[in-house]
Amino acid sequence: MLDDMDDWRKTHYTHEVTPDLIDQEVTLGGWVRNYRDLGGLKFINLQDKYGERQITLKKGVVSDEIFDKTKVGYQYCIMVKGKVKAFKKAPGGIEVIPSELKILNKTPDKLPIDMTGETISELDLRLNNRALDLRSVRNQAVFQIRGEVLNTIREFLLENNFTEITTPKIIGSATEGGTELFPIMYFDKEAFLTQSAQLYKEQLSGVFERVFEISDCFRAEKSHTRRHLCEIFTLDIEMAFATMNDVLKTLEELVHQVIKNVRENQMNSLKFLKMEEKTVLPELPFPRYTYEEMLELIESKFRISIEFGEDISTEAYRKLGKELTGYYYITHWPMSIKPFYIMPSKDPKYSESFDLQMGWLELTSGGTRVHSSEQLRQALEAKGLNPIAFESHLKVYDFGMPPHAGVGLGIDRWITFLCGLDDIREAVMYPRTPDRLTP
Ligand code: ATP
Ligand code: MN
Repeated sequence: MLDDMDDWRKTHYTHEVTPDLIDQEVTLGGWVRNYRDLGGLKFINLQDKYGERQITLKKGVVSDEIFDKTKVGYQYCIMVKGKVKAFKKAPGGIEVIPSELKILNKTPDKLPIDMTGETISELDLRLNNRALDLRSVRNQAVFQIRGEVLNTIREFLLENNFTEITTPKIIGSATEGGTELFPIMYFDKEAFLTQSAQLYKEQLSGVFERVFEISDCFRAEKSHTRRHLCEIFTLDIEMAFATMNDVLKTLEELVHQVIKNVRENQMNSLKFLKMEEKTVLPELPFPRYTYEEMLELIESKFRISIEFGEDISTEAYRKLGKELTGYYYITHWPMSIKPFYIMPSKDPKYSESFDLQMGWLELTSGGTRVHSSEQLRQALEAKGLNPIAFESHLKVYDFGMPPHAGVGLGIDRWITFLCGLDDIREAVMYPRTPDRLTP
């Protein structure tokens, strides 16, 4: 028989139960992270979204009725009314002595994954039981950091005159003329899931000047790496009356602010993930290398030769990441490997583009954009794309499009790095990969 919640409501979350509440009555609710039955003494570690507190039942101290009735299992959903007492050895230096306890829901005797924190179950098994898995201390740490990152991004950008935009995720034709799109049925027509907010954010920079969007994009890449997903969460930034150099500056300040806040507000999570020492406040400005300087460095240090116009290989990045462990920019990529909307440099062999790297991993791509409609038309054709398919986009460029520049940042990849995870799937609540569509 389950207890009824009735008019019971939580008075506090666990982290709010601090020593200044000693001798006061609180009502807590959550799940049983751990329990021990030592005969005359029972301990329950009650967890909620913020942490945990110890519930102590000692025969003779609590009523016989509640002592005998209290039989719980891992992850039972319970509510407790009780008095706060000081107890050094308990989490937070506090224990709660219950006067009443309700069992609101039960679990099977054996859970599919370890929830005690003693071992980490295999990732696929955890993902199959994700809603349960997300209650682990480790995941609480990861997603508190993720929340802090998202919150800081919004705060920072709103303070700097950016407007938050929302753009459609269902689109009629390919954003960047690329492959890698998921086709869908839109009534009786074919449509696609968007691969990025690129064209819309550019259009909107001609309205709101400084814009950003945090949203998901879809990449139909069948890559089985530990840094690629099919549904990604990205931060898109676009700035009017600006060039790549302005974006480099804004972006590094944003990264700096995010790390500052994560250190200030999420130190416990960083410590749990053993990332306290690795997550240091980066010095500004970030080191800047041109693509060509990078190729020379890779050639001279690692004897890997990359031809101008080729992407830097994963192998080369891996080695680079051992030397350059923090954040750095790689600028002026060959125009030949950049999308049509990127502005060529004075020497059109190069482009006004950049990547922000963290160690061996690419975090963002960005650059100055073309804003003349004539030039954009030519650029489309030069890339073998059909300007007719882009008519509704090109039209916007005839209405006084300002010079603009921007960047796209992979949030999931950043969280993977910041939390020291070795698989991007851990950084997302419900990851989508070529092999995973549920849960
Ligand atoms: P990569 O070369 O690493 O596959 P990309 O150059 O194709 O990435 P962009 O189109 O530049 O990616 O996307 C902007 C950012 O979004 C990237 O810098 C990266 O952080 C992130 N990103 C891109 N594709 C994925 C993906 N499939 N899974 C996770 N993050 C991604
Ligand atoms: Mn890129």
